[in-house]
Parts: sequence; structure tokens; C-alpha cells
Amino acid sequence: MKVTEHIKNAKGETLFSFELIPPVKGRSIQELYNNIDPLIEFKPPFIDVTTSREEYIYIDRDGLLDKKLTRMRPGTVGICASIKHKYQVDTVPHILCGGFTKEETEYVLIDCHYLGIENVMALRGDARSEQKYFEPTKGGHAYAVNLVEQIHNLNQGKYLHEMIENDDHADFCIGVAGYPEKHLEAPSLQSDLKRLKQKVDAGADYVVTQMFFDNQKYFQFVAAAREMGITVPIIPGIKPMAVKRHLQLLPQVFRIDLPQDLIDAVDACSDNKAVRQVGVEWAIQQSKELKAAGVPVLHYYSMGKSDNIHAIAREVF
Ligand SMILES: Cc1cc2nc3c(=O)[nH]c(=O)nc-3n(C[C@H](O)[C@H](O)[C@H](O)COP(=O)(O)OP(=O)(O)OC[C@H]3O[C@@H](n4cnc5c(N)ncnc54)[C@H](O)[C@@H]3O)c2cc1C
Repeated sequence: MKVTEHIKNAKGETLFSFELIPPVKGRSIQELYNNIDPLIEFKPPFIDVTTSREEYIYIDRDGLLDKKLTRMRPGTVGICASIKHKYQVDTVPHILCGGFTKEETEYVLIDCHYLGIENVMALRGDARSEQKYFEPTKGGHAYAVNLVEQIHNLNQGKYLHEMIENDDHADFCIGVAGYPEKHLEAPSLQSDLKRLKQKVDAGADYVVTQMFFDNQKYFQFVAAAREMGITVPIIPGIKPMAVKRHLQLLPQVFRIDLPQDLIDAVDACSDNKAVRQVGVEWAIQQSKELKAAGVPVLHYYSMGKSDNIHAIAREVF
């Protein structure tokens, strides 16, 4: 079922969902299942699986370093299919512009359709780790809006090189990213919102936000988006802080602000076990307020380990 149908069927009740990252190449999918198992009791109607960008690795060949471009966490669509099959929940593979030609994207979408996957998140992706700015892949898309257009076209039976009249064409529900504190490259929140509107106008059905730690940022963002004419569901993304290093890392990588109370609480922790507890308590407060405000879904960034998400969900759902 589509994410938007799940939201409609919930009739105003807030749903629980989460995002997973694929295991590192060569590791077992069982690790992922072990993290999903405890969360199933909260009845997630859909689970997202991220796609990682390719990166350079250096292989030692008799003293000479061989530089190879590789994807360290492959398998997004396969993981989505296996989770869907094992747990009978809908899955949402993240589809990136970066690292893929339009042709490869078409093949991935066709695979998804054959596998019964009805939702996809359309994202640009970040710059590769050695790049300063995002550079579109040759033959690929420059912005998420172009990817949304491709998926929307496929939904009409318009493939890259031909129109195929066929009753069995895909009908993907399309999610896109939104940034309550603006995307790091955007000159202003207003211009970023205009870009978000373009994605929705191109066919996006719902928005999932970047993490935020101050709910006011989300409420203001939703109000500004509605003002601009964006009417689709805007799902808040929640990340529980887990290690002390997040105090520097999260603002640096995602250009988000951290509330002083949270910074003080994390600073006062003697170890990361205590930080994880602070992160859980903060996310519980955030989640309860968002739920009371009637958000359609609370979507958690699990980053591989689900014990903290379980502790939050137990208090909120
Ligand atoms: C919910 C969520 C899930 C994510 N999942 C993943 C994942 O699985 N894998 C991964 O690698 N990354 C993921 N990301 C990160 C995402 O790829 C990065 O934030 C990326 O830098 C931007 O992606 P986007 O889809 O928002 O890009 P876009 O919507 O293309 O926007 C990128 C920037 O370009 C600007 N812009 C947009 N259109 C135009 C235009 N036509 N002309 C000029 N400027 C324009 C925007 O304002 C913005 O600053 C995720 C982010 C979120 C919020």
C-alpha cells in the first residue's frame, strides 16, 4: 500500500515508522532483522531503507595502492523486498540521483515494480566524500526534482525512450526530503521551500523532514510550506542523539541547530551510555508533542541500532 494510503486509513492517528541503513557489504542481513524484530510490535506500516553513495577505497596490491570506486552498503532494493516478504510491511527504498544514470534508475524502478514495492523516496544524494560539491553523474540527474519527474513519467507509462501503453505500469507513491532548517546549500529557507514546492508540483506525494531537535522549527516549516501551497503530508524525521560526538557532528554535517538545554544535558554526561539515555528522553518529549499536534507519522532515523527507537516507541505509541 502507498504511504499516503496508510496515512489516510489511520484517520488522524499518528503512525510509527523508521529508516534503516543496509549492512556493510559482506555482513549478514540477519543483523538488520535483529534490529527490526523488536520494533514490529509498534506496527510500522512502512520502513525506509537508505541508499549509500559510492566511495573510493584503496586496495593494497603488492605495495601498490589500487583506487576503486565502490558502494560500501549495497542491496537497498533487495533488502526492501526481503523485509516486505518477511514482515508483511511496506518498504520504501531511497533512490538517488548521485551515482546512477537515468537508465540505471529506470531499471531499479522496474525491479521495484516487479517486487511489489509501491513507494520510493526520491533524493539527490550528497557529494561523494572526496568532492566539495555535488556533481551530477554523467547521464544522471542534477536535482531530486528531475528524478521525481522521471518516476512520475514512469507512473504514466512514459519510459526514458518510449511511451509504452500498458495497464501494468508502475504507480509509485513518491516521497521527497524537506529541511525545516533549510538544506545546507540553499541560500535561504524561502528559496529551499520553493524548490520543495517544485518537487511536489512535479509529482511528489509526501515529504519527510531532515532531523530537527526543536519542534518549533518543524511547526514553522509546515506553516511556511502550507503558506506556499504545499498541501501533501509532511512527516517529521526524528533522530535520537546517541554519542557525545553528535554535538559537533550533527550541526557540521546537517547544518542544524541544537537547543542549549540538550547541549547542556549531553555535556553533563560522563559516557555515551548516558548520552544515549538523554537522546531517548529528548526524543520522547519531542515525539509526544508532535503526536499531540497530530502529525501523520513519526519517522525515526535508527542508524542501524534499534534499542533507543524501541525505548522511545514504548513511551509514545
Ligand atoms: C528524509 C531524508 C532521507 C535521506 N536519505 C538519503 C539516502 O538514503 N542516501 C543519501 O545519500 N542521502 C540521503 N539523504 C540526504 C540527501 O541526499 C541530501 O540532503 C542531499 O544533499 C539533498 O537531497 P535532496 O533530495 O533534498 O536534493 P534537492 O531537492 O535536489 O535539493 C538539493 C539542493 O539544491 C537546491 N535545488 C533544488 N532544485 C534546484 C534547482 N533546480 N536549481 C538550483 N538549486 C536547486 C535545493 O534548494 C537544495 O539546496 C536524505 C535526506 C533526508 C531529509
